[in-house]
Order: sequence, then structure tokens, then C-alpha cells
Amino acid sequence: LYSLGYLIIFFTISPLVSIIGKPSIPYEVLFHLDIATRLSVNISDATIATSTDFGKLVQKIPAAVLYPSSIHDIIKLINYSNNGAISVPFGVAARGHGHSVRGQAMSPNGVVVVMSSLKNNNNGKIRVLWESCLGFYYADVGGEQLWIDVLHATLEHGLAPVSWTDYLYLSVGGTLSNAGISGQTFKYGPQISNVLEMDVITGKGQLVTCSKQTNSELFFAVLGGLGQFGIITRARIVVEKAPTRVKWVRVFYSDFSKFTKDQEKLISINNGMDYVEGSLMMNQSPPNNWRSSFFSTSNQSKIISLISKYGIIYCLEMVKYYDDQCANTVDKELQKMMRGLNFLSGHIFKKDTTFVHFLNRVRSGELRLQSNGMWDVPHPWLNLFVPKSSIMDFNVGVFLDIILRQNKTTGPILVYPTTRKKWDDRMSVVIPEEDTFYCVGLLHSSGFNDWEVLDGQNEEIINYCEKAGLNIKQYLPHYKSKEAWMNHFGKKWKIFQQRKSQFDPKMILSPGQKIFI
Ligand code: FAD
Repeated sequence: LYSLGYLIIFFTISPLVSIIGKPSIPYEVLFHLDIATRLSVNISDATIATSTDFGKLVQKIPAAVLYPSSIHDIIKLINYSNNGAISVPFGVAARGHGHSVRGQAMSPNGVVVVMSSLKNNNNGKIRVLWESCLGFYYADVGGEQLWIDVLHATLEHGLAPVSWTDYLYLSVGGTLSNAGISGQTFKYGPQISNVLEMDVITGKGQLVTCSKQTNSELFFAVLGGLGQFGIITRARIVVEKAPTRVKWVRVFYSDFSKFTKDQEKLISINNGMDYVEGSLMMNQSPPNNWRSSFFSTSNQSKIISLISKYGIIYCLEMVKYYDDQCANTVDKELQKMMRGLNFLSGHIFKKDTTFVHFLNRVRSGELRLQSNGMWDVPHPWLNLFVPKSSIMDFNVGVFLDIILRQNKTTGPILVYPTTRKKWDDRMSVVIPEEDTFYCVGLLHSSGFNDWEVLDGQNEEIINYCEKAGLNIKQYLPHYKSKEAWMNHFGKKWKIFQQRKSQFDPKMILSPGQKIFI
């Protein structure tokens, strides 16, 4: 039955195989490797599953999939590729949780390493430890771990990481290869700013421990390095005492200038909010969505009439953490921080919930969409960093002109500020030059036949920003040519290239990013 299944799958996707060419690794050689039992080759469930990702926009079939039982299997695989033992060096891509949207964790004709297999084999544990000399706690976590598991494991010690993503079912290695951003970034920096040390298998097959002090070049290269320099097998993460509850507030604006001024004011308060984000509400992007169902049914109808009145509403979202000790004072503190905010009078919505419920707020929406088949649809997302000096023009040219006027958008649109000083310029990630810049996320979902319409709109947005000189940078970047990548990295391109030849000279790692091919 299995063979019959594979045969059917093979004939279904064989036209695809012919489009992308024959696998460059001869299968018969793979069978002789001493990691052969952990490889899945040919057209199988494994190669098909790893040929796609959350984006559902591209499909690239690997020649084989490795399910490592330990990091030594990964080292062996990378060494085989380096030594040309099988054929020419073949691509190797770590697949964290496959939540990229443009094939970044794919390895066309090469090998995909399913990182979660380390977890299944009980290799990568999450350990909370005490640094006795300097007097702080940290967590040692496998690169394959999901942030939700890191949260639960650290909470057992009353601790938690300080910097998060909005959604926690992402792998540590996957987000550290990008940056890992959310409403906490203005305060604690992105997740890459909260790493003390890593174990990395370089593209040369060497296992190296690195930090700011030791092998620092590799450390800075890997953080935000789009998987180009090494596979993260362990990361030492900053943790702090975890709060138990949060005060969660949303307020509305019809004026973008007032909205952004207030966001910037909130992120400038010392010891102020713990999280500040913002989003757009329009007919196409209603108050509640998969990212968060915050508003009660009765409030939703009021909000919808407000949206009809203004066409677009900007929603500022802020959170203050607290625990039993400050339960009596937190409301006063919140009031003080919110004094002078210029939101639409009477449009304030509050929630009081647990820290875990707040951090894991996207999960219920995901499960809802999964249950009706709407999670596994194409996601032509566009994520941008917009300098503060360009954000007003961005609102007029992109939010009002392209998005609102064209009325094609389907999905949440996020916009919130963060500060450059919390980012380390020695890391590979690219951000705007200004002290304050905005994170903008256009989180579209679409049908299988119409995602190109939204992708066209994304291109229009990028072209508009270029023409208007808005100096934006893509987050989770995706480009089609080397020139475009060079332009993205700007003055960092030279060092990015140097680091590639130092740590992955045969250009083996993360070929799905398409930077060096
Ligand atoms: P994958 O897609 O598996 O891999 C991404 C890249 O990293 C690939 O190039 C891969 O080869 C490489 N890689 C994977 N593991 C390793 C490793 N151990 N070592 C080295 N390289 C590795 N991002 C944010 O910053 N903030 C958010 O709030 C946020 N929310 C999201 C919500 C959803 C629903 C989704 C789908 C994505 C979101 N993202 C967010 C984007 C997400 O951070 C990136 O797509 C990230 O790469 C996904 O992690 P992953 O584990 O699925 O990585």
C-alpha cells in the first residue's frame, strides 16, 4: 500500500520534479552513508512535507531529508557535502518549524535537516542554570526547540525569556536566524539581542561554541544571518523573573500622526510599558482576527460602525506586566503612563489576563483556522522596517493609497515602533539607520489561485517606497537577484560575503534563501 501511495504521489508531483531538475545527489550513494538509516530519500512523505512551508507559495523538493538522532549526524552530513563524497557539494537546510513563507528552509535537490528530530530523540533539553560569578539565570535551549516549550520550561523556575515573537510555535534557530521581534523589542531588543552564547555547526562541519567574547565573528554572523553561516544547535538565552499577569489595553485613533506620536511616547518612558504594538482596522482587516480575538461581540459591532465612519482606524495596543506584589498599584501606574494619550475619547478596551495567555494569544486563532482548513492557505506576507522619518509618507502612500484604495488586503496589518539602540550592528540583520524605526507586517492570506494579486500589491508597495526614497528594509527578506541582496545589505554586504567564505566557503547552508545562487 505504501509503495502504491508513493507511486501516486510521484506521478502527481513528477511534473514538478521535471521543472526543477533531477536531484543532484545519486540516491544509491546515500544508502551507503552511515547516516543512511536516518535519511529519507526519493519521493516520500518526508521529501514532500519539507518541499513546502507556511507560505504555500513555492515548492522545492529536496533529494533527501535527514532526521538527526544527534548533532553528530548533522556534522557528518555537512562533512559529506564538503568532501564531495557524494557528488558536488549539495545544499543543506535546517528546517526549524517550516514557518518561512518563501522557501527559506528548503533545499532544492539537496538535503533538509528536520531539526525537531533532535527533540524527539531527547537530545536538546531546555535547562535553566545560574551564573554564579555574575549572578543571573539563563536558559540553555536546543536550536530545534519551539519558543512555546522554552516558555513552559522556564516558567517551572518562575523565569521566562524577555524578548518574544507574537506567535510561539516557531523554533529558536529559525527566529535567531532572522531577529525575533514583537511588542517587547523596544524595551529588550529583538531575540537576537538576548543570546549569550551558542553552539553552531559551521558550513565547514565544525562544531564551535561562540559568544561576544569567544569566536565572536561567528556569533555575530549567525544572529540574523539567515542560516548562511552555521546551524544553531544550542542557544543560551537571557531569562528574568516572570510576571504572572498582564494589563492589556487597546485604544483607537483616526489620526495616524496622533497614533504614532503616542506609540513613540510610550516606548520612550523609562520602566514604562512592557509591550507596545499597533494595527490597522479596516473593512478588509476587522477588529478580531487570527492574531488575537480581543473584542467582545457587542464591542465588535460598535467598532465596525467606527470603521465605516473613518474608513480606517489605528489601534494602539499596550501591555503592563504585574504580579501579586504590585497588583494594588498596577492600575495607577498604567493610568500615569497613559496620561496625555490622544486617542478617540471613550474608545478604550481593557483586559486582565495571565502572562501565558497573553504571550500565547495567537494560538487559539491558529487552532480555529486549522479546524476550518484556513491555516494551510497561501500567505504572501510582506514585513518591512520603516524609518521614523518615512512613516507619515508610508501611511499616505501605502496604507491609505495602495491598501485602503485597492481593497485587496486580507489579514492583519501591524505597525509599531522600536529603537535601534537595542540592536547590535555587528550582527548580520539589516535595519534602517535611524534611532527609531517602525516594524510593519502585512500578514495576508489568500486562496490558492489569487495569491499573486497580493504579491503584486507587495511589489507595488516596495516600488513605491523605493521611488519615494523611504529607505525601508525588508524583514524576513526575500529577493530574486544578487544585486537586490547586495542592495539590501548595503554597507554590510562586504562583511556578509567575507563571513560566508570564512564559515561556509562551499556555499552549502540554507540555499533556499537564494543569496549566493
Ligand atoms: P524555518 O522556516 O524552519 O527556517 C527559517 C530559516 O532559518 C531557514 O533559512 C532555515 O534554514 C534557518 N534555520 C532554521 N533552523 C535553524 C538553526 N537551528 N540554525 C540555523 N539556521 C536555521 N517573526 C518575528 O520576528 N516575530 C513574529 O511575531 C513572528 N510571527 C510569526 C507568526 C507566524 C504565524 C509565522 C508563520 C511566522 C512568524 N514570524 C515572526 C516569522 C518567523 O520568525 C520566521 O519565519 C522564522 O524563520 C520561522 O521560524 P521556523 O522555526 O519555522 O524557521
